[in-house]
Amino acid sequence: MKYAVDFDSTLAVYHPGDFHKYGPLILGEPIEPMVRQVKAWLRQGIEVVIFTARDPISWALISKWTEEHIGTRLMVTNVKTWDIDAFYDDKTFHVIPNTGEIVDTDLYLQYKAFWLEKGN
Ligand SMILES: [Mg+2]
Repeated sequence: MKYAVDFDSTLAVYHPGDFHKYGPLILGEPIEPMVRQVKAWLRQGIEVVIFTARDPISWALISKWTEEHIGTRLMVTNVKTWDIDAFYDDKTFHVIPNTGEIVDTDLYLQYKAFWLEKGN
């Protein structure tokens, strides 16, 4: 099994506008429940990669961040590959395969409204 975990707002604290305020090289503090979850997956033998929209200039720093907070350097990528079994991301919503049906549409719409209000 292989899981892809988003970085900003999923594994590390990020607020809308932080990128413009602090630039690409400042990384947020760990979000402990997600850090614990990733550690548990690794103990179970699940491969975990960091999936991020950040510019590759910050990938080495993110990998170092995972060493500091998770205990191992995780691979960082922005490529969605066939062998990834699941994605964990604050902006992702599940679509039932081959139906176009979004799971929990109300939550999805609330989320979209939140981001639009923040100007993202
Ligand atoms: Mg995110």
